[in-house]
Amino acid sequence: MERICDVTDESLKALVEESKNAGPDTGVCPVEASLKIATEALKNSCGKGVMCRDGLRQVYLILADIVNGRGKADDYELLDEILGVIVECADCDLSYTAAFTIQNLMHENQSDFEEHIKRKSCKNLICVGCHTVHINAALCKGSGECIKACPAGAIKGGEGLFSVIDQAKCTKCNICIDKCPNGAIKGAGFIKPQGPTEPGPVGSFGAAAGGRRRRRGG
Ligand code: SF4
Ligand code: SF4
Repeated sequence: MERICDVTDESLKALVEESKNAGPDTGVCPVEASLKIATEALKNSCGKGVMCRDGLRQVYLILADIVNGRGKADDYELLDEILGVIVECADCDLSYTAAFTIQNLMHENQSDFEEHIKRKSCKNLICVGCHTVHINAALCKGSGECIKACPAGAIKGGEGLFSVIDQAKCTKCNICIDKCPNGAIKGAGFIKPQGPTEPGPVGSFGAAAGGRRRRRGG
């Protein structure tokens, strides 16, 4: 096939390489990796090819919705169809490489994509709209490290109190998870832990209660 341009991009190649490690529990989410590839390809598109300009834009918009927890029931099939057309008719190496890689990621990780779309759940606990972050009040010793570290000011607490995360303010950046010296902060996918919504005295929330889990929205 004759290409109308031969834009190559080192950062796209690096993302394609990184995506080879993607999987449901590998620390590299295939859906997020796909969005990064679509974003990078669009950023470097010269805009001359319709597949690159319009096709990849559609792919980007659908992936962005999925990552942000707004995936719709037929998104997997729609994405697969659009990517198939781009792979078949690509005018340039940039759009071909991006579409081919994303379609491969989808086919190799179909159940993970569907988990994001249907249950708004990211197994790697990375995608912003497909996971939440919680403090186990039974494990929290009130050190306040997480409160200092949170860039969104989303954690409430105080001296002698266990901390809680205000889910409306949390941006799911995951920074606080590594800051807790007691391992009290964890991400959650479809199944959410049940816990207090306001700080309380350290030790007043039982381990059994802290460990209860409920379904999303339950
Ligand atoms: S995940 Fe980020 S925004 Fe949310 S509470 Fe933790 S540090 Fe704050
Ligand atoms: S959740 Fe961890 S870091 Fe935050 S106050 Fe409790 S013990 Fe400290």
